[in-house]
Amino acid sequence: MSFADRLIIKPGSKVNLAKHDPDETCGFDKDEAESRLDAHRKRLFELQELLYAENKHSLLVVLQAMDTGGKDGVIRHVMTGMNPIGVQITSFKKPTPEELDHDFLWRIHKAVPRIGEVGVFNRSHYEDVLVVRVHELVPRKVWSDRYEQINQFEELLSCNGVTIVKFFLHISKNEQLERLKARLEDPSKHWKFSHGDLDERKLWNDYQRAYQDAISKCSTEHAPWFIIPANRKWFRNLAVAEVLVETLEGLKMRHPKPAFDVAKVVLEE
Ligand code: AMP
Ligand code: MG
Repeated sequence: MSFADRLIIKPGSKVNLAKHDPDETCGFDKDEAESRLDAHRKRLFELQELLYAENKHSLLVVLQAMDTGGKDGVIRHVMTGMNPIGVQITSFKKPTPEELDHDFLWRIHKAVPRIGEVGVFNRSHYEDVLVVRVHELVPRKVWSDRYEQINQFEELLSCNGVTIVKFFLHISKNEQLERLKARLEDPSKHWKFSHGDLDERKLWNDYQRAYQDAISKCSTEHAPWFIIPANRKWFRNLAVAEVLVETLEGLKMRHPKPAFDVAKVVLEE
């Protein structure tokens, strides 16, 4: 069974995060995982170049996690294997007044990668059924209608050449505590510490429930969710890389045929 098969959430299944072990390593040890990740990074470089050359598909990677879950780490350790010319990373923050004057997918749609390119969402439209739900920023009716709207939106993208993979980096509450402590103990990490993270931590259970619903309702054939065990950073990175390689290889991409007769090209000395 491939990694993607082990970590994918089958459409229609009901997720219980307590049953997904954040410490899982699928039998790998750290050294093995790191050398395999290295090979995957090289392969991702080739596959991304092929995506760019073939110019038929784009890849959209959605990263979601609790605070300290490792979204930035995945970008740094996995996505940097690709050529920056074809990769666009978008971090979604609290919506601006202009963004709030539009539907919640407006800012998202603008950031979808163009054909041939890779887009990485550091947070995403899922915040609109996560933080927005947990903090009751809009009435229940408004956020609860969004799951279906998200599915329709993602289907539209998928029918238009966008391959979508969504990762939930799953850490335990205790691991979050350790990471917050580390941020406080290391002056070079103080900038990453936010008091807001402590308030959010108090809402841990509400967030876990919101994630369960988002993943259960929005893991679809055209835009699957993967739950990545993320307590071990080295396993998290490997698992994300595996799924990306499998997904891109599944597109069966080919270098385009040249529009000219190569044999007839004369290069003068
Ligand atoms: P960070 O990723 O640490 O820079 O924080 C970004 C912040 O923006 C987080 O606290 C998110 O919860 C918040 N955020 C992102 N999207 C939304 C949204 N649609 N509505 C409200 N808050 C959001
Ligand atoms: Mg933060």
